[in-house]
Amino acid sequence: MKKSFLFIFSAALMLAACNTPKATDEMPASPADKVLVRDFFPSVANNLQVTEVTRGKFPIIDMHSHDYVESAEQIAKWVETMDAVGVEHTAIMHCSWIGRPFDEVIELYAPWKDRFRFWCCFDYTGIDSEEWPAQGIAALERCKELGATGIGELGDKGEGDTYARPADGAGIHIDDPRIQPLIAKAGELRMPISIHIAEPIWMYLPMDDKNDGLPNAACWHVDTTNCLGYEQLMTSFENAVRQNPGTIFIACHYLNMTHDWPRLGALLDKYPNMYVDISARVAESAHTPRATREFLIKYQNRVLFGTDNGFEPSMYAGIFRVLETNDEHFYVPEYNYHWALSGFNLPDEVLKKIYRENALRILNEYK
Ligand SMILES: [Zn+2]
Repeated sequence: MKKSFLFIFSAALMLAACNTPKATDEMPASPADKVLVRDFFPSVANNLQVTEVTRGKFPIIDMHSHDYVESAEQIAKWVETMDAVGVEHTAIMHCSWIGRPFDEVIELYAPWKDRFRFWCCFDYTGIDSEEWPAQGIAALERCKELGATGIGELGDKGEGDTYARPADGAGIHIDDPRIQPLIAKAGELRMPISIHIAEPIWMYLPMDDKNDGLPNAACWHVDTTNCLGYEQLMTSFENAVRQNPGTIFIACHYLNMTHDWPRLGALLDKYPNMYVDISARVAESAHTPRATREFLIKYQNRVLFGTDNGFEPSMYAGIFRVLETNDEHFYVPEYNYHWALSGFNLPDEVLKKIYRENALRILNEYK
């Protein structure tokens, strides 16, 4: 049989067997019609490399976590997990977690204080009184004496620093003139400020069939009717970073700018007092592995490791797989996206910096 005839013959057979509609035909009803976007968490059919990384390749400082525990026993368990996965220290962000007061956090973790660092909130109590900012500064100094290393996680998704405890910072954005004395003081005390600004861009886009991050964006959609939008928040952040060159700002979650690496890079170029942490944005960065890798290599001195997601060994392993391997096209349903992820296969020197050295430099302990 001639080759061309063989091809036509087999194509005709396939059409007969599958009754494949042409692109222009109306699609017949299918079981797929009943699949909702929010339920779309497929399994990978490809036979691909799967690398399990249960321990980080180099020692790690986790610069973004929270007080997830109920008891001292759980802290002991957490420390066991940290030993197993290779985490030296974990930064506990006091704000944004509705839990015990800062003093109690310090007390509870005291037996393991060499394994944790503590970030405290700004205390906005009485912000409109005349005693402020002296009172706010005194509260900050007190936290520092109790053992606070940094400040945060401040959080502004448009309504102000609503992550603050004990007083809500509603309406107070990071460039608010009232809090500038505290921000300057943070620089003097060498306390970095970790701040969560805005949300990933897909959460601002219309919730329609053009939204590439729809499953997660639908859960976390931001209604900006009565609060600052994405661009206004970015402006407020940039104002604060520019106006306080002596204070280090750690923009949590890559500043929620993983959709635009050149823009994030330009900010890092412009402001030497700005860093980013990678916490809780694995999905938003690992669906574009080559662009993300390029960014991480270029800005290897300005990126900090962080988790922000409990302390299960599998949580750490998922992040290690993305940072360290060149595995491709895998799904992590917990991230609630339909995006397939791929590893960055970062060079050792870059991993060492992101995992630990940059954090040590910020904490003024680089040896
Ligand atoms: Zn957090």
